[in-house]
Amino acid sequence: MDKEEIFKRVAQMEQQIGEMYKGLGGLKEQIVELIEENTRLVMENQRLKELFVAKEPPLPQQTEKLPPSQKAEVEDESTHKGVNHLSNLYDEGFHICNVHYGRLRGDGDCLFCIAFLNKSSKEK
Ligand SMILES: [Zn+2]
Repeated sequence: MDKEEIFKRVAQMEQQIGEMYKGLGGLKEQIVELIEENTRLVMENQRLKELFVAKEPPLPQQTEKLPPSQKAEVEDESTHKGVNHLSNLYDEGFHICNVHYGRLRGDGDCLFCIAFLNKSSKEK
């Protein structure tokens, strides 16, 4: 194999690696988009569940027999679960605020998210 041939093949490989690198970048972007979309769907699902629980009158056999103090606890628990779920998502690195809803947070805290969490945990 002559030197010119070797040089040509190296240049070819260099070009192929460049294309693979670009392809990898594109895939990475798509993965981030999918993860963010999935998180938005999880959040949406959680919100719909909460709405459903809030609207659905409690089943008679579950709460009717409970004294009033325990009835309140059952309702509190579902709200509490929702807040916990959001705070878990935030800890996993996602925005839960209305500004960047469901997107990856990257480094550092988001003031909007923290304000939202504080507000949600006080609302009862
Ligand atoms: Zn945020």
